[in-house]
Amino acid sequence: MGAIAVIGAGIAGLTVTAKLAAHGHEVALFDKSHGPGGRCATRRSAVGAFDHGAPGFSASSAAFRAQVAAWRQAGWVCDDDEGQAAAEAAERGSSPIYGVPSMNALARQLSAQLPARVTLHTDCQVAAIEPEAGGGAWRLRLSDGITSAARFDAVAVAVPAEQAAVLLAPDAVMADRMQRVRSDPCWTVMTAWARPLPVSLPSGLSGDASRVLSTARRDDLRTGRTPLADVACRWVLHATPQWTAGHLDARSEVVIAELLRAFERQLGASLPAPSHAVAHRWLYAQVVTPCSEPCGWHAALRLGACGDAWHAHGDPGSIAPDGIERAWLSGHALAQQVHSTLSSR
Ligand SMILES: Cc1cc2nc3c(=O)[nH]c(=O)nc-3n(C[C@H](O)[C@H](O)[C@H](O)COP(=O)(O)OP(=O)(O)OC[C@H]3O[C@@H](n4cnc5c(N)ncnc54)[C@H](O)[C@@H]3O)c2cc1C
Repeated sequence: MGAIAVIGAGIAGLTVTAKLAAHGHEVALFDKSHGPGGRCATRRSAVGAFDHGAPGFSASSAAFRAQVAAWRQAGWVCDDDEGQAAAEAAERGSSPIYGVPSMNALARQLSAQLPARVTLHTDCQVAAIEPEAGGGAWRLRLSDGITSAARFDAVAVAVPAEQAAVLLAPDAVMADRMQRVRSDPCWTVMTAWARPLPVSLPSGLSGDASRVLSTARRDDLRTGRTPLADVACRWVLHATPQWTAGHLDARSEVVIAELLRAFERQLGASLPAPSHAVAHRWLYAQVVTPCSEPCGWHAALRLGACGDAWHAHGDPGSIAPDGIERAWLSGHALAQQVHSTLSSR
Protein backbone atom coordinates (compact mmCIF):
# COMPACT_ATOMS: atom_id res chain seq x y z
CA MET A 1 0.00 0.00 0.00
CA GLY A 2 1.17 3.55 -0.56
CA ALA A 3 0.84 7.17 0.48
CA ILE A 4 -0.90 9.18 -2.21
CA ALA A 5 -1.60 12.89 -2.62
CA VAL A 6 -4.74 13.90 -4.51
CA ILE A 7 -4.94 17.57 -5.55
CA GLY A 8 -8.51 18.83 -6.01
CA ALA A 9 -11.62 17.71 -4.13
CA GLY A 10 -14.23 18.02 -6.90
CA ILE A 11 -16.12 14.95 -8.10
CA ALA A 12 -12.98 13.53 -9.79
CA GLY A 13 -10.73 14.02 -6.74
CA LEU A 14 -13.34 12.65 -4.33
CA THR A 15 -13.85 9.62 -6.57
CA VAL A 16 -10.17 8.74 -7.00
CA THR A 17 -9.65 9.28 -3.26
CA ALA A 18 -12.54 7.02 -2.22
CA LYS A 19 -11.42 4.26 -4.58
CA LEU A 20 -7.78 4.37 -3.47
CA ALA A 21 -8.75 4.44 0.20
CA ALA A 22 -11.00 1.42 -0.40
CA HIS A 23 -7.92 -0.40 -1.73
CA GLY A 24 -6.18 0.38 1.60
CA HIS A 25 -3.96 3.32 0.53
CA GLU A 26 -3.36 6.36 2.76
CA VAL A 27 -4.62 9.44 0.90
CA ALA A 28 -4.02 13.13 1.59
CA LEU A 29 -6.62 15.18 -0.32
CA PHE A 30 -5.84 18.88 -0.89
CA ASP A 31 -8.23 21.62 -2.00
CA LYS A 32 -7.68 25.36 -2.21
CA SER A 33 -11.32 26.11 -1.31
CA HIS A 34 -13.06 26.04 2.09
CA GLY A 35 -14.69 22.71 1.31
CA PRO A 36 -15.02 19.96 -1.30
CA GLY A 37 -17.16 20.14 -4.45
CA GLY A 38 -15.33 22.30 -7.00
CA ARG A 39 -17.74 23.22 -9.79
CA CYS A 40 -20.54 21.26 -8.03
CA ALA A 41 -20.92 24.54 -6.21
CA THR A 42 -23.56 26.13 -4.00
CA ARG A 43 -23.43 29.78 -2.89
CA ARG A 44 -25.14 30.54 0.39
CA SER A 45 -26.73 33.98 0.87
CA ALA A 46 -29.27 35.87 2.97
CA VAL A 47 -31.91 34.96 0.36
CA GLY A 48 -31.10 31.25 0.34
CA ALA A 49 -28.75 28.91 -1.51
CA PHE A 50 -27.96 29.04 -5.23
CA ASP A 51 -26.49 26.16 -7.27
CA HIS A 52 -24.35 28.54 -9.32
CA GLY A 53 -22.03 25.93 -10.89
CA ALA A 54 -23.29 22.78 -12.55
CA PRO A 55 -27.10 22.84 -12.21
CA GLY A 56 -27.33 19.07 -12.52
CA PHE A 57 -25.99 16.18 -14.53
CA SER A 58 -26.89 13.18 -16.63
CA ALA A 59 -25.77 9.55 -16.51
CA SER A 60 -25.11 7.77 -19.79
CA SER A 61 -22.87 4.81 -18.88
CA ALA A 62 -24.12 1.74 -17.01
CA ALA A 63 -21.41 2.20 -14.35
CA PHE A 64 -22.39 5.80 -13.58
CA ARG A 65 -26.09 5.00 -13.73
CA ALA A 66 -25.53 2.33 -11.07
CA GLN A 67 -23.66 4.85 -8.91
CA VAL A 68 -26.44 7.43 -9.34
CA ALA A 69 -29.03 4.80 -8.39
CA ALA A 70 -27.16 4.27 -5.09
CA TRP A 71 -27.00 8.06 -4.50
CA ARG A 72 -30.73 8.32 -5.29
CA GLN A 73 -31.44 5.50 -2.83
CA ALA A 74 -29.44 7.36 -0.17
CA GLY A 75 -31.49 10.52 -0.86
CA TRP A 76 -28.43 12.50 -2.03
CA VAL A 77 -29.78 13.19 -5.54
CA CYS A 78 -33.12 13.32 -7.27
CA ASP A 79 -34.44 13.75 -10.81
CA ASP A 80 -35.89 16.85 -12.36
CA ASP A 81 -39.27 15.81 -13.68
CA GLU A 82 -40.51 19.04 -15.15
CA GLY A 83 -39.52 22.08 -17.11
CA GLN A 84 -37.30 22.90 -20.02
CA ALA A 85 -34.24 21.11 -18.66
CA ALA A 86 -36.17 17.86 -18.44
CA ALA A 87 -37.59 18.27 -21.92
CA GLU A 88 -34.13 18.92 -23.39
CA ALA A 89 -32.60 16.05 -21.48
CA ALA A 90 -35.39 13.69 -22.54
CA GLU A 91 -34.55 14.55 -26.15
CA ARG A 92 -30.94 13.56 -25.47
CA GLY A 93 -32.11 10.31 -23.87
CA SER A 94 -31.08 11.20 -20.33
CA SER A 95 -32.60 12.93 -17.32
CA PRO A 96 -31.17 15.80 -15.33
CA ILE A 97 -30.18 14.71 -11.87
CA TYR A 98 -29.32 17.14 -9.11
CA GLY A 99 -27.99 17.10 -5.55
CA VAL A 100 -30.37 17.32 -2.57
CA PRO A 101 -30.67 19.79 -0.98
CA SER A 102 -27.98 21.33 -3.22
CA MET A 103 -25.33 20.31 -5.76
CA ASN A 104 -22.58 20.92 -3.25
CA ALA A 105 -24.33 18.66 -0.71
CA LEU A 106 -23.58 15.69 -2.95
CA ALA A 107 -19.85 16.43 -2.73
CA ARG A 108 -20.10 16.96 1.02
CA GLN A 109 -21.83 13.59 1.40
CA LEU A 110 -19.09 11.90 -0.65
CA SER A 111 -16.46 13.59 1.48
CA ALA A 112 -18.18 12.61 4.74
CA GLN A 113 -18.10 8.95 3.66
CA LEU A 114 -14.31 8.90 3.21
CA PRO A 115 -12.62 6.53 5.65
CA ALA A 116 -10.19 7.59 8.40
CA ARG A 117 -7.15 6.80 6.22
CA VAL A 118 -8.02 9.91 4.17
CA THR A 119 -6.93 13.34 5.42
CA LEU A 120 -8.71 16.29 3.83
CA HIS A 121 -6.73 19.56 3.74
CA THR A 122 -8.97 22.47 2.75
CA ASP A 123 -7.84 26.09 2.15
CA CYS A 124 -4.64 24.48 0.93
CA GLN A 125 -3.50 25.45 -2.56
CA VAL A 126 -0.77 23.32 -4.11
CA ALA A 127 1.71 25.38 -6.14
CA ALA A 128 4.01 22.61 -7.40
CA ILE A 129 4.72 18.88 -7.28
CA GLU A 130 8.42 18.34 -6.59
CA PRO A 131 10.54 15.19 -6.68
CA GLU A 132 12.22 14.42 -3.38
CA ALA A 133 16.02 14.72 -3.48
CA GLY A 134 17.28 11.31 -4.60
CA GLY A 135 13.94 10.54 -6.34
CA GLY A 136 11.47 7.81 -5.45
CA ALA A 137 8.88 10.07 -3.84
CA TRP A 138 7.05 13.38 -4.26
CA ARG A 139 6.59 16.37 -2.01
CA LEU A 140 4.10 19.21 -2.51
CA ARG A 141 4.99 22.89 -2.43
CA LEU A 142 2.06 24.89 -1.13
CA SER A 143 1.10 28.37 -2.30
CA ASP A 144 2.43 29.93 0.92
CA GLY A 145 5.90 28.67 -0.08
CA ILE A 146 6.01 25.86 2.48
CA THR A 147 6.87 22.36 1.28
CA SER A 148 4.71 19.64 2.82
CA ALA A 149 6.52 17.46 5.34
CA ALA A 150 4.79 14.36 4.01
CA ARG A 151 6.32 12.37 1.15
CA PHE A 152 4.07 10.64 -1.35
CA ASP A 153 4.54 7.50 -3.46
CA ALA A 154 2.15 8.86 -6.09
CA VAL A 155 0.31 12.08 -6.90
CA ALA A 156 -3.07 12.44 -8.66
CA VAL A 157 -3.98 15.86 -10.06
CA ALA A 158 -7.77 16.39 -10.20
CA VAL A 159 -8.10 20.10 -11.06
CA PRO A 160 -9.35 21.85 -14.25
CA ALA A 161 -7.08 21.17 -17.24
CA GLU A 162 -5.72 24.70 -17.52
CA GLN A 163 -4.57 24.56 -13.86
CA ALA A 164 -3.44 20.92 -14.13
CA ALA A 165 -1.05 21.90 -16.94
CA VAL A 166 0.98 23.94 -14.42
CA LEU A 167 1.03 21.27 -11.68
CA LEU A 168 1.95 18.51 -14.13
CA ALA A 169 5.24 20.21 -15.11
CA PRO A 170 7.30 17.11 -14.07
CA ASP A 171 5.65 15.25 -17.00
CA ALA A 172 6.00 17.56 -20.01
CA VAL A 173 3.86 15.34 -22.25
CA MET A 174 0.90 15.19 -19.89
CA ALA A 175 1.24 18.91 -19.12
CA ASP A 176 1.14 19.64 -22.84
CA ARG A 177 -2.02 17.55 -23.29
CA MET A 178 -3.73 19.51 -20.53
CA GLN A 179 -2.55 22.76 -22.09
CA ARG A 180 -4.39 21.86 -25.30
CA VAL A 181 -7.76 21.26 -23.59
CA ARG A 182 -10.19 24.13 -24.11
CA SER A 183 -12.88 25.08 -21.60
CA ASP A 184 -15.64 27.63 -21.99
CA PRO A 185 -15.94 30.41 -19.42
CA CYS A 186 -19.34 31.32 -17.95
CA TRP A 187 -20.64 34.45 -16.26
CA THR A 188 -23.38 33.48 -13.80
CA VAL A 189 -25.87 35.76 -12.04
CA MET A 190 -27.67 34.69 -8.86
CA THR A 191 -30.79 36.74 -8.37
CA ALA A 192 -33.91 36.87 -6.18
CA TRP A 193 -37.14 38.84 -5.92
CA ALA A 194 -38.94 39.54 -2.67
CA ARG A 195 -42.39 39.78 -4.30
CA PRO A 196 -43.97 37.50 -6.93
CA LEU A 197 -43.07 38.60 -10.47
CA PRO A 198 -45.87 40.05 -12.61
CA VAL A 199 -45.48 37.32 -15.27
CA SER A 200 -46.20 33.64 -15.46
CA LEU A 201 -42.88 31.90 -14.89
CA PRO A 202 -41.66 28.62 -16.30
CA SER A 203 -39.09 26.71 -14.19
CA GLY A 204 -36.41 27.19 -16.82
CA LEU A 205 -35.60 28.91 -20.12
CA SER A 206 -32.81 28.40 -22.57
CA GLY A 207 -31.09 30.56 -25.17
CA ASP A 208 -32.28 34.10 -25.97
CA ALA A 209 -32.09 35.37 -29.55
CA SER A 210 -29.43 37.95 -28.67
CA ARG A 211 -27.13 35.11 -27.52
CA VAL A 212 -26.46 36.69 -24.15
CA LEU A 213 -28.31 34.19 -22.00
CA SER A 214 -27.59 30.49 -22.24
CA THR A 215 -30.01 29.29 -19.56
CA ALA A 216 -32.20 30.73 -16.82
CA ARG A 217 -33.16 28.28 -14.08
CA ARG A 218 -35.48 28.74 -11.16
CA ASP A 219 -33.57 27.61 -8.08
CA ASP A 220 -36.00 27.95 -5.18
CA LEU A 221 -38.41 25.20 -6.32
CA ARG A 222 -35.86 22.38 -6.27
CA THR A 223 -36.35 19.42 -3.95
CA GLY A 224 -34.81 20.08 -0.56
CA ARG A 225 -34.93 23.88 -0.76
CA THR A 226 -36.34 25.61 2.31
CA PRO A 227 -38.89 28.33 1.42
CA LEU A 228 -38.05 31.75 2.91
CA ALA A 229 -40.80 34.17 3.93
CA ASP A 230 -39.29 37.20 2.19
CA VAL A 231 -38.18 35.47 -1.03
CA ALA A 232 -40.76 34.95 -3.79
CA CYS A 233 -38.36 33.37 -6.29
CA ARG A 234 -34.66 32.78 -6.96
CA TRP A 235 -33.12 32.41 -10.40
CA VAL A 236 -29.69 31.45 -11.70
CA LEU A 237 -28.83 33.01 -15.06
CA HIS A 238 -25.92 31.63 -17.12
CA ALA A 239 -24.45 33.68 -19.97
CA THR A 240 -23.44 31.99 -23.21
CA PRO A 241 -19.75 31.09 -23.62
CA GLN A 242 -19.47 33.58 -26.52
CA TRP A 243 -20.92 36.48 -24.55
CA THR A 244 -18.81 35.59 -21.50
CA ALA A 245 -15.63 35.39 -23.60
CA GLY A 246 -16.34 38.87 -24.96
CA HIS A 247 -17.01 40.29 -21.46
CA LEU A 248 -14.45 38.42 -19.34
CA ASP A 249 -13.27 41.57 -17.59
CA ALA A 250 -16.63 43.32 -17.42
CA ARG A 251 -17.67 44.77 -14.06
CA SER A 252 -20.21 42.73 -12.08
CA GLU A 253 -22.82 45.53 -12.33
CA VAL A 254 -22.60 45.44 -16.13
CA VAL A 255 -22.92 41.64 -16.23
CA ILE A 256 -25.93 41.70 -13.89
CA ALA A 257 -27.68 44.43 -15.93
CA GLU A 258 -27.05 42.66 -19.27
CA LEU A 259 -28.20 39.24 -18.08
CA LEU A 260 -31.30 40.67 -16.44
CA ARG A 261 -32.15 42.51 -19.68
CA ALA A 262 -31.73 39.26 -21.62
CA PHE A 263 -33.93 37.47 -19.06
CA GLU A 264 -36.64 40.13 -19.55
CA ARG A 265 -36.41 39.67 -23.32
CA GLN A 266 -36.87 35.94 -22.87
CA LEU A 267 -39.90 36.40 -20.62
CA GLY A 268 -41.28 39.17 -22.82
CA ALA A 269 -41.91 41.37 -19.78
CA SER A 270 -40.20 44.06 -17.72
CA LEU A 271 -39.24 42.98 -14.25
CA PRO A 272 -38.96 45.02 -11.06
CA ALA A 273 -35.47 45.43 -9.61
CA PRO A 274 -34.40 42.24 -7.84
CA SER A 275 -33.82 42.25 -4.09
CA HIS A 276 -30.56 40.34 -4.60
CA ALA A 277 -28.18 40.07 -7.57
CA VAL A 278 -24.62 38.77 -7.46
CA ALA A 279 -22.37 37.77 -10.37
CA HIS A 280 -19.77 35.02 -10.42
CA ARG A 281 -17.27 34.39 -13.21
CA TRP A 282 -16.26 30.80 -14.02
CA LEU A 283 -13.06 30.98 -16.05
CA TYR A 284 -13.17 27.25 -16.78
CA ALA A 285 -16.80 26.15 -16.63
CA GLN A 286 -17.23 23.36 -19.13
CA VAL A 287 -14.66 21.47 -21.21
CA VAL A 288 -15.12 21.77 -24.96
CA THR A 289 -12.40 19.40 -26.17
CA PRO A 290 -11.60 16.63 -23.68
CA CYS A 291 -8.64 14.28 -24.23
CA SER A 292 -9.56 10.95 -25.72
CA GLU A 293 -8.25 8.78 -22.84
CA PRO A 294 -10.03 7.99 -19.57
CA CYS A 295 -7.22 9.54 -17.47
CA GLY A 296 -3.50 10.38 -17.56
CA TRP A 297 -0.98 8.14 -15.79
CA HIS A 298 2.82 7.98 -15.96
CA ALA A 299 3.64 4.69 -14.20
CA ALA A 300 7.40 5.31 -13.92
CA LEU A 301 6.91 8.77 -12.39
CA ARG A 302 3.79 7.67 -10.48
CA LEU A 303 2.09 10.90 -11.47
CA GLY A 304 -1.40 11.10 -12.94
CA ALA A 305 -4.37 13.29 -13.77
CA CYS A 306 -8.14 12.90 -13.86
CA GLY A 307 -11.17 15.16 -14.15
CA ASP A 308 -13.64 16.34 -16.75
CA ALA A 309 -10.82 17.01 -19.22
CA TRP A 310 -10.57 13.25 -19.75
CA HIS A 311 -13.05 11.37 -21.84
CA ALA A 312 -13.77 7.82 -20.82
CA HIS A 313 -15.62 6.14 -23.67
CA GLY A 314 -19.18 5.55 -22.64
CA ASP A 315 -21.15 2.42 -23.39
CA PRO A 316 -21.65 1.64 -27.10
CA GLY A 317 -24.65 3.54 -28.41
CA SER A 318 -24.95 5.77 -25.35
CA ILE A 319 -24.59 9.57 -25.53
CA ALA A 320 -21.16 11.03 -24.73
CA PRO A 321 -20.76 11.54 -20.99
CA ASP A 322 -21.09 15.13 -19.75
CA GLY A 323 -18.67 16.90 -17.37
CA ILE A 324 -19.67 15.41 -14.02
CA GLU A 325 -19.92 11.90 -15.41
CA ARG A 326 -16.51 12.28 -17.12
CA ALA A 327 -15.02 13.48 -13.82
CA TRP A 328 -16.42 10.43 -12.00
CA LEU A 329 -15.39 7.95 -14.72
CA SER A 330 -11.88 9.34 -14.95
CA GLY A 331 -11.47 9.31 -11.14
CA HIS A 332 -12.28 5.60 -11.25
CA ALA A 333 -9.93 4.95 -14.15
CA LEU A 334 -7.02 6.73 -12.46
CA ALA A 335 -7.56 4.93 -9.14
CA GLN A 336 -7.29 1.64 -11.01
CA GLN A 337 -4.00 2.68 -12.63
CA VAL A 338 -2.46 4.01 -9.42
CA HIS A 339 -3.46 0.93 -7.43
CA SER A 340 -2.19 -1.48 -10.05
CA THR A 341 1.22 0.30 -10.23
CA LEU A 342 1.65 0.58 -6.45
CA SER A 343 0.54 -2.98 -5.74
CA SER A 344 2.99 -4.42 -8.27
CA ARG A 345 6.06 -2.83 -6.64
C1 LIG B 1 -21.86 27.07 -14.88
C2 LIG B 1 -21.56 25.60 -15.04
C3 LIG B 1 -22.49 24.74 -15.62
C4 LIG B 1 -22.21 23.39 -15.75
N1 LIG B 1 -23.16 22.54 -16.26
C5 LIG B 1 -22.94 21.19 -16.26
C6 LIG B 1 -23.97 20.27 -16.64
O1 LIG B 1 -25.09 20.65 -16.99
N2 LIG B 1 -23.68 18.92 -16.63
C7 LIG B 1 -22.46 18.45 -16.25
O2 LIG B 1 -22.24 17.21 -16.22
N3 LIG B 1 -21.47 19.31 -15.90
C8 LIG B 1 -21.68 20.65 -15.89
N4 LIG B 1 -20.67 21.52 -15.53
C9 LIG B 1 -19.31 21.01 -15.42
C10 LIG B 1 -19.09 20.22 -14.14
O3 LIG B 1 -19.36 21.02 -13.02
C11 LIG B 1 -17.63 19.77 -14.13
O4 LIG B 1 -17.37 19.05 -15.32
C12 LIG B 1 -17.28 18.86 -12.97
O5 LIG B 1 -17.81 19.36 -11.75
C13 LIG B 1 -15.75 18.78 -12.91
O6 LIG B 1 -15.34 18.06 -11.75
P1 LIG B 1 -13.79 17.94 -11.46
O7 LIG B 1 -13.66 17.17 -10.21
O8 LIG B 1 -13.11 17.41 -12.69
O9 LIG B 1 -13.25 19.44 -11.28
P2 LIG B 1 -13.69 20.57 -10.27
O10 LIG B 1 -15.09 20.41 -9.85
O11 LIG B 1 -13.31 21.87 -10.90
O12 LIG B 1 -12.78 20.32 -8.98
C14 LIG B 1 -11.43 20.73 -8.95
C15 LIG B 1 -11.06 21.14 -7.53
O13 LIG B 1 -9.67 21.44 -7.52
C16 LIG B 1 -9.44 22.52 -6.65
N5 LIG B 1 -8.15 23.10 -7.05
C17 LIG B 1 -7.83 23.71 -8.23
N6 LIG B 1 -6.52 24.06 -8.23
C18 LIG B 1 -6.00 23.64 -7.04
C19 LIG B 1 -4.71 23.70 -6.46
N7 LIG B 1 -3.67 24.24 -7.10
N8 LIG B 1 -4.53 23.21 -5.21
C20 LIG B 1 -5.57 22.65 -4.52
N9 LIG B 1 -6.83 22.57 -5.04
C21 LIG B 1 -7.05 23.04 -6.28
C22 LIG B 1 -10.65 23.43 -6.86
O14 LIG B 1 -10.86 24.26 -5.70
C23 LIG B 1 -11.77 22.40 -7.05
O15 LIG B 1 -12.43 22.11 -5.82
C24 LIG B 1 -20.94 22.88 -15.33
C25 LIG B 1 -20.03 23.74 -14.74
C26 LIG B 1 -20.32 25.09 -14.58
C27 LIG B 1 -19.32 25.98 -13.90
